[in-house]
Amino acid sequence: MTDLDNRKLLNLIRYAPVAVVFVFALAVNIIAIQDKRAQAALSIENLREELIFQQKEMIRSEVSQAYKQVILKKYQLESDLKERAKQRVYEAYGIANYVYARNIGKSRAEIEKLIRESLRPIRFFDGRGYYFILDMNGNTIMNAGNPEMEGKINWESRDEKGNYIFNGMLDIAEEHLEGAFHWLFKKPGGPAEKKFDKVGYVKRFEPFDLLIGTGEYLSDFEESVKEDLLDWFSEYEYGEGGYFFVLDKNGILLAHHRHDFLGLNINTGTPLQENYFNNIMQQVRNGGGYVDYSKPLTLSGTVKLKQINYVKKIKGWDWIIGTGFSAQSFERRLKIKEEALIRANQQSLTNLIYLTIASMLLLTGSSLYVGNLIARRFEVFQKKIREDFDELDETKNKMEYMALHDDLTNLPNRVHMLKNIQKHIELSQTDNKILAVMFVDLDNFKNINDIYGHQVGDQLLGVVSRKFELLTGCSESVSRFGGDEFMFCYPNLNDTEDAKDKASLIHETLSGPIDIDGRTLTIGCSIGVSIYPDNSTDAEGLINQAYTVLYKSKSQRKGQSLFYSSSITEQIKRRAVIEHELALATKDNGFTVFYQPQSSFHNKNILSVEALARWNHPALGIISPTEFIVIAEEAGLINELGILIFRRACEDIYELSPNGKDALKLSVNISPVQLMDPELGHSLLEICAEIGIDPKRITLEVTENICIQDLDAVRLLLTQLREQGFGLSLDDFGTGYSSLNYITSLPLTELKIDRCFINRFIGNHQSDMLVRMIIGTGRLCGLVVVAEGVETSSQFKKLLNYECDICQGYYLDKPLNIGQLSKRIVKSKPVNNTDTTLPGSQ
Ligand code: C2E
Ligand code: CA
Ligand code: CA
Repeated sequence: MTDLDNRKLLNLIRYAPVAVVFVFALAVNIIAIQDKRAQAALSIENLREELIFQQKEMIRSEVSQAYKQVILKKYQLESDLKERAKQRVYEAYGIANYVYARNIGKSRAEIEKLIRESLRPIRFFDGRGYYFILDMNGNTIMNAGNPEMEGKINWESRDEKGNYIFNGMLDIAEEHLEGAFHWLFKKPGGPAEKKFDKVGYVKRFEPFDLLIGTGEYLSDFEESVKEDLLDWFSEYEYGEGGYFFVLDKNGILLAHHRHDFLGLNINTGTPLQENYFNNIMQQVRNGGGYVDYSKPLTLSGTVKLKQINYVKKIKGWDWIIGTGFSAQSFERRLKIKEEALIRANQQSLTNLIYLTIASMLLLTGSSLYVGNLIARRFEVFQKKIREDFDELDETKNKMEYMALHDDLTNLPNRVHMLKNIQKHIELSQTDNKILAVMFVDLDNFKNINDIYGHQVGDQLLGVVSRKFELLTGCSESVSRFGGDEFMFCYPNLNDTEDAKDKASLIHETLSGPIDIDGRTLTIGCSIGVSIYPDNSTDAEGLINQAYTVLYKSKSQRKGQSLFYSSSITEQIKRRAVIEHELALATKDNGFTVFYQPQSSFHNKNILSVEALARWNHPALGIISPTEFIVIAEEAGLINELGILIFRRACEDIYELSPNGKDALKLSVNISPVQLMDPELGHSLLEICAEIGIDPKRITLEVTENICIQDLDAVRLLLTQLREQGFGLSLDDFGTGYSSLNYITSLPLTELKIDRCFINRFIGNHQSDMLVRMIIGTGRLCGLVVVAEGVETSSQFKKLLNYECDICQGYYLDKPLNIGQLSKRIVKSKPVNNTDTTLPGSQ
């Protein structure tokens, strides 16, 4: 993930929850506020409906109360009338009684007259009511309404239904003293033929046995009750300006609190009014109901008030009673209540908003805090992870580097090189070029390690590496393969000539001296070269071939470059065969030994012979010791082989020449590998003892290649051998590295000047100097000096001149088999005893 992505993620962690919480809280709060508002609106609506319902209920209840009262009044009309007539009669009776009591001493006629006069003028029932008095015989004593009937007996008076009026009354008075009575009677001033329902009351006035009574026309009483009720309706008010109205069936206002409206017909005028009246009629037909009405406030009807009425019909009277409430007055009240409610709602809404703002702030703040905490923690983790990754990367890079580079020289290693070669093989293939793999081995590097120590050796490797690096151009590379082995990869070459040039440059770069810690060192190298695509088409194959050819080259001669060829494969195959056959031959003792005489320069007498191993293989033919000895050394067969040769040589020479003063001496080559065997001295001595040959007759030839690393051990072994009587010759003197060093540190008895110096010392000043120097040194150190490979008389003469001690070479003798040697010795006898005494020999 890139840094930018991380920063985005961090911001997301930090702010996204805040945004989400904020939006969520906002949404919740908006919903809550909306809900609250809707609730408030609903509550106002509910309030309106509730109030309307209450108002309507109230007017309905008022109307039904009034209705009940009117109906009660209507049905109690007759009993009411009877009761009121009774009251009146009781009053009259009271008056009569009073008059009677006040005038007790007077005559009955006088008292009767006084009673008559006091009752006659009394009127009631809106002037329609009056008293009448009868005696028990039916004489009319007084009739204030109809004085013409006074003094007459009206026994025969009957009502419409034929009932005797007065008789009926007298019966009641006689039987019950008093009681109500119902009859039909003509109305005073009314049509004579029409009689009306009349209700009255009579009471017997016992003192004079008279009957006092009164009566009232029921219809008149009903009318007067109705009048009273209409008045009552007009005056009646309830609640806040509540009033009743009464209409007749035609729509004429019978009762109304606005008296000026009385008599108005609400059913006339506008269609609206007619509609209103029709609605009223509709509702009353259904037993009563609500009617909306635009009530005119003035007689002109221009100012109107919206009103809701409840109406109900009074049956029998064709009255429609009703009441209502004005929407305006209702609205006013509603408004007050509404305002109160709105205030309450507003307050709770404000509270809610405060609460929501507080909760939003709290939520947003807390999520910001938590988001920040998480983001910070994330940042810490991220930093830690990044650090860990960096560390890991670093380690990985280091490991990769280590895996692909050499620790000591910082050059790429063999793994790196392998990849490199593979890569460049592909490129060379496409570019149609050749590629050279060069395996380089430093010559005698081991010696430098042994002499100067590993630290100097390591430094030398470093310096060589830097020099090698300078040889590599673009796409060329050098790597260290381990030890003192390096490998170059040269791609993009045109031909093998280019490769040869490169190899020459490698040799050249090491040609000069190298200064390390004040020491001037020289180092050479051997190179094995393989070419893509001629030798192999794969990296492993090229490396193996270069390696093979390098060691082939080294085994032949150090310091050269060798290009891989198929003949080398043959050589290698041959080597494998030889190694195999060598093992068998060692087992079967398939070797012979030749002896090359070593003669005195002085008189050419044979003093000694060098045993030289010979191997005539039945199939491979004669194989040179220079070939098979090296293979035996490498194959670990040299100890066995060396002992075998030693034993044979000792046997041959002992047989040829027994021990004694003039006994023929024997030189035997001892491989440096053999010197590593601590048992060597013991084995040699044992053989000598076994055969009987005196070890003092035997000189062991060791080359300068003896292991310097184990010089102390070698020195000890050589000292022991020397102590046993063996002579010690330093073979191939001058070719090695530290010849002079050996002269002083090893218990030597002889020096053998190498063949190569003898070969060229005539005409080569340097070699001549060296030969003379070796001879001089040997003399100085009391060592016998042997010149090897003397082939010509001039060489012989010159060496004789230089006073070299012993001559070995084809000039005098070639290596001979034991038979030839035997003959040769016989031929050359007698051995001159005086000349056989060698300097330094015992
Ligand atoms: P070396 O020890 O230096 O042996 C001398 C070699 O020089 C012998 O070769 C000999 O034949 C050769 N030589 C002597 N005089 C002349 C001369 O005038 N001209 C020429 N061209 N050559 C001459 P050879 O026998 O082929 O031995 C080669 C090497 O093999 C020996 O070199 C020695 O290092 C090794 N070698 C031979 N036999 C043995 C052995 O039994 N044990 C061990 N360890 N090495 C042996
Ligand atoms: Ca030798
Ligand atoms: Ca030699």
